[in-house]
Amino acid sequence: MNPDLINQCVHCGFCLQACPTYILWGNEMDSPRGRIYQMKAVSDGAALINPKFVQHMDTCLGCVSCMTACPSGVNYGKLIEETRAEIERTYQRPLSERLLRWGILNMFPRVGLLRILRAFLAAYQALGLPALNKLTPKLGPREDVSGVTPAKGVKRARVGLMLGCVQREFLSEINGASVRVLTAEGCEVVAPAEQGCCGALLMHAGKDKDALELTRRMFASFEAAGVDLILTNAGGCGSHVKDHASLFKGKILDISEFLVELGPRAERRALNMRVAYHDSCHLQHAQKVRTQPRQLLAGIPGLTVEEIPESTLCCGSAGIYNLVQPEAAEQLGQRKAEHIRAIAPDAVATGNVGCILQMRAALQSGGPKPTVMHTIQILDLSIRG
Ligand code: SF4
Ligand code: SF4
Repeated sequence: MNPDLINQCVHCGFCLQACPTYILWGNEMDSPRGRIYQMKAVSDGAALINPKFVQHMDTCLGCVSCMTACPSGVNYGKLIEETRAEIERTYQRPLSERLLRWGILNMFPRVGLLRILRAFLAAYQALGLPALNKLTPKLGPREDVSGVTPAKGVKRARVGLMLGCVQREFLSEINGASVRVLTAEGCEVVAPAEQGCCGALLMHAGKDKDALELTRRMFASFEAAGVDLILTNAGGCGSHVKDHASLFKGKILDISEFLVELGPRAERRALNMRVAYHDSCHLQHAQKVRTQPRQLLAGIPGLTVEEIPESTLCCGSAGIYNLVQPEAAEQLGQRKAEHIRAIAPDAVATGNVGCILQMRAALQSGGPKPTVMHTIQILDLSIRG
């Protein structure tokens, strides 16, 4: 834990009302200021990494909403990342927690293993059996977009596309829509089959060395394919790879940033619907991408973009948070679902696979259930007519 980063905090408390866990529980130790205070105590040697400390750090979503609120520019994202890495290096978690984390962190980054799980899940769902878990996606056909897909019409750009790990196997329709939109806009899309996982989930869980190994491997796959611009379509992954962009010889952009920069060429057909846009935390707070997805949606004739109240607050997804802290995640999910129901949209759009799964699960219980989609899927619907 870097004392210079810690000491940038002037304890003003402006971040408190931006913090989902402080809003839920009203406990200073579960606020950004309180967490930084505890980090300082450990860093100064005045306190130990003990179960209480670990609990307050574990309940942090890493949503970095506090960074948007902080007038002193404290890099809380870096602080919590370093703290989690220190916890994983020095603290022995209870066996049940270790097993759960080991299972999750060894499964998600392994694309081959996820493909086998997908086959089992597809067979299970084909039998019409009840859903295993609220977060489990209903599988559609697997869209494999790996390789090179040529541009339609005159080529305007050549771009790399990150496919993700969970998204590539369980919500591959997002990658399919991304490739269709990009090629319709005149881009040749390169998605190396061997790119693997970017390491974001591991970094979020404090496994920094393993995470960076995956990040480097993924960048190398794009460099080997001669790509100097990578596009991401998942807020959390995008934020992680942008944080480590110095390891890549090129540029990294969210797909919405890129499409707005490029400007539209493909014809948009009317979609007469009201779409509530949900900001993924890592897209809005870490990448500062707020206007571009709204601009893409607003460019569709007939479509109205609606704002969800408390748009800066996390939906509870946050990497593996909804698996390791299910109660807090459920409370935040329900809070978000109530705000969505209050504006009764036809659909919800967002730019992160985790938020899509979390909001679909939260909207299952009672009331209207608007479709939750990736922003690029709505643009794809419009372009395809
Ligand atoms: S990252 Fe999110 S949950 Fe963690 S302290 Fe900051 S605002 Fe609170
Ligand atoms: S707003 Fe920034 S400086 Fe103020 S208490 Fe929060 S983290 Fe510290």
